[in-house]
Amino acid sequence: MYDCIIVGAGIAGAAAARVLAEEGGKRVLVTERRSHIGGNCYDRPDDHGILIHEYGPHIFHTDDDEVRAFLSRFTEWYDFGHEVVAKVGDQLLPIPFNLNTLHLIFDGEKASRIEKKLIGAYGEGSRVNIMRLRENEDPDIQEIADYVYRNVFLYYTMKQWGQKPEEISPEVTGRVPVVISRDNRYFKDVYQGVPLHGYTPMFERMLDHENIEVMTDTDCADLLDFSGEEIRFRGKPFAGAVVYTGAVDELFGCRFGRLPYRSLDFRFEHLDQESFQDHSVVNYTVSEDFTRITEFKFLTGQRDACGTTIVREYPFAYTGAEGEIPYYAILAEENERLYEKYRALTDRFSHLHLLGRLAEYKYYNIDAMCRKAMDLARRLAAQ
Ligand SMILES: Cc1cc2nc3c(=O)[nH]c(=O)nc-3n(C[C@H](O)[C@H](O)[C@H](O)COP(=O)(O)OP(=O)(O)OC[C@H]3O[C@@H](n4cnc5c(N)ncnc54)[C@H](O)[C@@H]3O)c2cc1C
Repeated sequence: MYDCIIVGAGIAGAAAARVLAEEGGKRVLVTERRSHIGGNCYDRPDDHGILIHEYGPHIFHTDDDEVRAFLSRFTEWYDFGHEVVAKVGDQLLPIPFNLNTLHLIFDGEKASRIEKKLIGAYGEGSRVNIMRLRENEDPDIQEIADYVYRNVFLYYTMKQWGQKPEEISPEVTGRVPVVISRDNRYFKDVYQGVPLHGYTPMFERMLDHENIEVMTDTDCADLLDFSGEEIRFRGKPFAGAVVYTGAVDELFGCRFGRLPYRSLDFRFEHLDQESFQDHSVVNYTVSEDFTRITEFKFLTGQRDACGTTIVREYPFAYTGAEGEIPYYAILAEENERLYEKYRALTDRFSHLHLLGRLAEYKYYNIDAMCRKAMDLARRLAAQ
């Protein structure tokens, strides 16, 4: 019946399915345990008709022309340069911290002096990890580094990761650098925006192909068995390619213990007022238990919508309990070792391919995930 089976209908699974079906002529089955496609990019109108991102705000941003062109076959875009501010006391400061932020917190002369020193030390346009900035011995740069560390990183990181910035991987702190420029945009990529009519219609079109069958509400465990020496599909050996985008520990019953993740509790609220915060995203870096508030009408361009819907994000440690979602892999050596133990169990299946943020225990942006899925699917399509 099928040449390939894909587990998960997020961007990894959906992009791989489309390329396999279209370029390889493969008959593809996509199984998705949730009742909808789109993975964490899934969006839907709420009870008030406002398009919300169910699993947190997702902004598509990329420099990859081919990925952008591929997705543009399934959607038009609402383009914008995504900007984020942090609420520090009474001020709203541009994030990532940049030269505009510098001029908001220090008076003109002092800010100009520090600006010159930052440009001299790191170069205009550079992006500097906060931990690296803190190593600079110049007293002015130390002062600004200390301000940024205390007001932008410390409490926010404690909330998000349950650890201090110095305790987590530099790869993670580096995701929000200090930027030596006047550019207030959160990302630096050429293309930034969201699908004009939402992510879900984009995924629907991507998966709408005569060679693709999608089964939602279907956990792969109901169809596939990985317990023996060969993969079995509905009880019979399956020799085609299996692309698995779920959590790798779940594939083997979490037998070595669960891979640690951070999870998020999204609390949505609809308000009968035109606007709540006038920004799409406000980070709370020195106060509150939540990390940020997203106001969807500013993210998706629905400025004429009646009322407004916001979401607050409360991070917590994932336990695997029913209903919890593992969002962020926690990058640490011991977790990498645990991941490797699970990954090694897949070696016996030469046609099983681990793909995606869960299966690879790694953070990916949408564009990087799409690129990886397209590349893998092309290799498999050629087989
Ligand atoms: C809060 C948050 C905000 C983000 N914001 C951005 C952003 O602004 N821009 C950006 O580029 N990236 C963003 N990302 C990253 C983005 O979500 C990921 O790049 C993307 O979701 C990865 O796609 P995926 O297919 O690997 O995983 P997912 O989207 O998680 O899809 C995996 C799918 O597999 C399904 N599945 C798992 N196990 C099974 C099973 N056993 N059987 C059947 N189905 C199964 C899951 O239900 C899920 O639908 C964000 C991530 C988070 C957590």
